[in-house]
Amino acid sequence: MIELSSHVLGRWLPPVSGGAEIRSAVTGEPVARVASEPMAMADVLAYARKTGGPALRKATFRERAEQLKKLAEYLNAHKEQLYELSRHAGATKMDAMLDVDGGIGVLFVYASKGRRELPASNLLLDGDVEPLTKSGNFIGRHVRTPLQGAAVHINAFNFPCWGLLEKFAPAFLAGVPVITKPATVTAYVAERLVRLVEASGVLPPGALQTVIGSTGDLFDHLTGQDVVSFTGSAETAQILQRHPVIAREAVRFIAERDSVNAALLAPDAAPGTPEFDLFVKEVAREMTVKAGQKCTAIRRAFVPRGALAAATEALRARLAKVAVGDPALENVRMGPLVGLSQRGQVLDLVGKLRQECELAFGDPQAFEVVGADAKTGAFLPPLLLSCASPATAKYVHDVEAFGPVSTLMPYDDLDQAMELVNRGQGSLVASVYTYDAAAAARIVQDIGSFHGRLLFIDRDCGAEQTGHGSPMPHLLHGGPGRAGGGEELGGLRGMMHYLQRTALQGSAARIASITGEPLAVPAS
Ligand code: NAP
Repeated sequence: MIELSSHVLGRWLPPVSGGAEIRSAVTGEPVARVASEPMAMADVLAYARKTGGPALRKATFRERAEQLKKLAEYLNAHKEQLYELSRHAGATKMDAMLDVDGGIGVLFVYASKGRRELPASNLLLDGDVEPLTKSGNFIGRHVRTPLQGAAVHINAFNFPCWGLLEKFAPAFLAGVPVITKPATVTAYVAERLVRLVEASGVLPPGALQTVIGSTGDLFDHLTGQDVVSFTGSAETAQILQRHPVIAREAVRFIAERDSVNAALLAPDAAPGTPEFDLFVKEVAREMTVKAGQKCTAIRRAFVPRGALAAATEALRARLAKVAVGDPALENVRMGPLVGLSQRGQVLDLVGKLRQECELAFGDPQAFEVVGADAKTGAFLPPLLLSCASPATAKYVHDVEAFGPVSTLMPYDDLDQAMELVNRGQGSLVASVYTYDAAAAARIVQDIGSFHGRLLFIDRDCGAEQTGHGSPMPHLLHGGPGRAGGGEELGGLRGMMHYLQRTALQGSAARIASITGEPLAVPAS
């Protein structure tokens, strides 16, 4: 049994007796125990601000980028143990790679961008010189400098490594120390990751602290120099965002919430076209990777009415090949959900969806589990639903069953399809399957403002496209409205949450002396 502990104030807190057990998703056996001595969160924040921040800001953007690269290399050489632990959370080798290698990949991308695109200082120029008088001698210039507080990162259970690292990389590069709080149910994977980070010896003291379990009164001590970045359900996000200190101190709050993402098979992509096949492949993949426990998974799949029967058949055939069971076994394609309580929640929500949908594939009461016990492990088969009347449906555009669950729906024309897609009220991502340039352009106009990312999949990119459900560190991750309105990643833009933008005004000579740029000769 792993005794989990928090790493704060430069030390691992010793485990104490009692606390809660975390059980294996596969066997139901206890894997880890969470019990920590009470922490003074004001001290944890102070340690980040007074020790971590100054140590980080002694280095420049570029030097921190070098450190990120070293850290990524170290983690890459030690990642096997993270795969091993991930199995208890239900992850197949592929699932674990998405989480672990995906997270390390974010570090590499930020390291590379930082080394190539950031200055050897802690002053980032933002935009051009703005002449403010006729002579050009008095000018304005925007700059950005690191916040002097802490980045508080609260993560969801489904990506214990990627979630931690994708938030950590931009904050660290900006020069802001991180306090990370993993979701408890998979905290044993995140805790091991933090132990590896510590063992790498790359980070200065106070750059990364981790709080396992409750955050206690941490929010009471936040200030306007701190940033909270949350990933999880809309419900928790709203509770945290309503904390009075968040409003009083204008604490930056980034929310990455749940999302009922869509896949749209356009009218031209009839059965028999490459785009139809790519659609089927992607929907099935998104249902089964990480047992559908991805905030970006396809929850709603829209097809032209005439293609519904063919799409249903093709998806049934594909899903029938998915072996569900012990994720350690080579032939198993889908592991269990993270735990029995998560499975219970998913089944409740599927029950709600079934009030307006038929079950087109999968039976939660009768399915084969390879190499494990269906009663003690949190297994479910892929569950494909079919909703005949999406225009009048109450739940299907709103309920996120966070498991291997997706709903297929017919539409009558492209206008209706786009209107139905937007009923998700703001999503992280939609994927569109079309080879029709005019349709693609129309779709961007009509659904773009409801989405953080639009992925166009067709015969030209089908073999190399990176996947509906995979956020890329170079591109924005986040979505408007229901998805939380947060924007993470997006290359160096992801770092801007941790930098303050300041407008400088002064003589051209003074501004040049501050920014280190050559003095612009005023236009005569
Ligand atoms: P959750 O129940 O909302 O929990 C998220 C995090 O908040 C956990 O670390 C949890 O800690 C913590 N938390 C809960 N109550 C708190 C409180 N009062 N104070 C401080 N922290 C608190 O979500 P989840 O079940 O872990 O994750 C699944 C959800 O996350 C899904 O809805 C999914 O769509 C969403 N998600 C979104 C994204 C995205 O990028 N948009 C990515 C992944 C997942 P404990 O575990 O200790 O309770």
